[in-house]
Amino acid sequence: MTLDVTWAVDWVRRCAAVVAAHREELIELDRQIGDGDHGENMNRGFTAVIAKLDALVTPPGTVGDVLKLVATTLMSTVGGAAGPLYGTAFLRAAKVTDAPAIDSAGVVALIEAALEGIVARGKATTGEKTMVDAWTPAAEAAAHAAAQGVDPVGVLEVAAQAAAEGAESTIPLVATKGRASYLGERSAGHLDPGSRSTALLLAAASEAAR
Ligand code: ADP
Ligand code: MG
Ligand code: MG
Repeated sequence: MTLDVTWAVDWVRRCAAVVAAHREELIELDRQIGDGDHGENMNRGFTAVIAKLDALVTPPGTVGDVLKLVATTLMSTVGGAAGPLYGTAFLRAAKVTDAPAIDSAGVVALIEAALEGIVARGKATTGEKTMVDAWTPAAEAAAHAAAQGVDPVGVLEVAAQAAAEGAESTIPLVATKGRASYLGERSAGHLDPGSRSTALLLAAASEAAR
């Protein structure tokens, strides 16, 4: 089985819904170790994405078309650190999903490309208390599942679970990248907002596939 353009559009709509529903939570997380705008930034971005989706005259032909629309919109509307990071993630993911549907290997490629984009842009590695700590285990779990013959729905399910655990794993970490790094040791004891939004976006991908 494969995941098609309808899945991709449903994923994006679920991203907008989950970001809106968790806006306050993301703001509160960012208030603790940043400047308190992550929920607002993400909500503004995905609201603009939905407006663009709704305004399309011709339906997207490929999964990549959908992800590219997300990328360009996030880059121009989100701002801060997360805008260029998620923008690059979706742009790289779009480049490897230039097909009407993707299989398990395609899901792995999508997640790995997103992670590579974030790392290329932000130069963070794991353990620095950023969204990389959610994307990295997600990519690893997805690759492991796909190698065992798991279908795309199952691959996304394990990826989402790994991202959620990765986000939780940021709590004890001291931030060494992004705004939270200004706090030094005082950043420990708080969940990184970008890793939380990553977990929400990947959970949305999994729910859209079910
Ligand atoms: P800003 O910090 O500019 O206000 P946001 O609040 O929207 O931007 O996003 C903050 C999130 O961005 C952090 O929680 C972290 O996950 C992520 N982030 C910041 N810098 C980096 C980086 N260099 N690499 C990866 N992720 C980063
Ligand atoms: Mg912020
Ligand atoms: Mg900011």
